[in-house]
Amino acid sequence: MKVNTMMKVDLRSDTVTQPTPAMRAAMLAAPLGDDVFAGDPSVNALQEKIAALLGFEAALFMPTGTQSNLCAILAHCQRGDEYIVGQFAHCYRWEGGGAAVLGSVQPQPLNHQADGTLALADIEAAIKPDDAHFARTRLLALENTLGGKLLPFDYVQQATELARAKGLSRHLDGARLFNAAVVQAAQQSSTGDTPGADIFLEARRIAQCFDSVSVCFSKGLGAPVGSALCGSREFLARAHRIRKMAGGGMRQSGLLAAAATHALDHHVLRLADDHALAQRLAEGLRDLPGLAVETPHSNIVFVDLEDAAKARAGELIPFLAARGILVTGLYRLRFVTHLDVDAAGIEHTLAAMREFLRA
Ligand SMILES: *Cc1c(COP(=O)(O)O)cnc(C)c1O
Repeated sequence: MKVNTMMKVDLRSDTVTQPTPAMRAAMLAAPLGDDVFAGDPSVNALQEKIAALLGFEAALFMPTGTQSNLCAILAHCQRGDEYIVGQFAHCYRWEGGGAAVLGSVQPQPLNHQADGTLALADIEAAIKPDDAHFARTRLLALENTLGGKLLPFDYVQQATELARAKGLSRHLDGARLFNAAVVQAAQQSSTGDTPGADIFLEARRIAQCFDSVSVCFSKGLGAPVGSALCGSREFLARAHRIRKMAGGGMRQSGLLAAAATHALDHHVLRLADDHALAQRLAEGLRDLPGLAVETPHSNIVFVDLEDAAKARAGELIPFLAARGILVTGLYRLRFVTHLDVDAAGIEHTLAAMREFLRA
């Protein structure tokens, strides 16, 4: 097999980004302390910054989004409680069942609608009456973006208002909250003041529908490690104890927090570039035979293989890999754009797909 060693296009996930030279410089320059003693100035600065950006009292730096969601669910719920969540939500499906395993908090998964939402009627029907037969329904957990889809803002308001009215807490897995905010801001007619002001405003509007929000720095924002959990001081005091139990109390973690702060300062507005490349990829793929291409909202493109292409699905990933292109899936492929993918990489990917499908 001929191997193109020149071009590497890693479209498996937006987690694969390398810290930029400027980010590395910010990390090296960061003042450090011991965060278990709350004495790391760079961690404290990040926590204050993200809490203020999203309109919360406080925030807690977390090693991973998984630990952030776990701490959130366990801080909202007690043993024997349950949380309502989507079948495809990361905190239900992709986190090893942590809330159930480690916290004895049972999920109540609901099927998604085509747009990624959970039907309000389904949420309402899933809330159990106060009866010894049932787990106590305590929390609604949503995710935005979900599989790259922006949840309609009206829906987010309605679902979280329903949960509030029924006495549930509301948690947002906002691993890609800033991707959501970039898309939502583009849908509004911008007032054109400070560049990006509308994006931070939309991020805050989404976040403020919830009691807690988890944000990933290691996805599209391009930091090597870390998430933040935002909420009230009282909620975060409980989450802090759980983070300690989960082994997430880190020491000179300002090195990592500085990367996240740099990402917030420099990598939020550029998410629009990732979204534009995802659009370009989807448009190019739509011209090819044997593919059903979903129109991406943000930085994730899903493509189903059909007919003859489906019959050769097993050959496609190695064919792409031999050309330096990495993607995940089999019959349903996932392409994720990010900081380390450029227009040339997308054209290279389209050329390879064309070559494969026309063979
Ligand atoms: C990646 C991701 C997480 C978990 O983050 P890790 O840092 O990989 O543990 C949680 N939720 C969503 C939606 C994610 O995409």
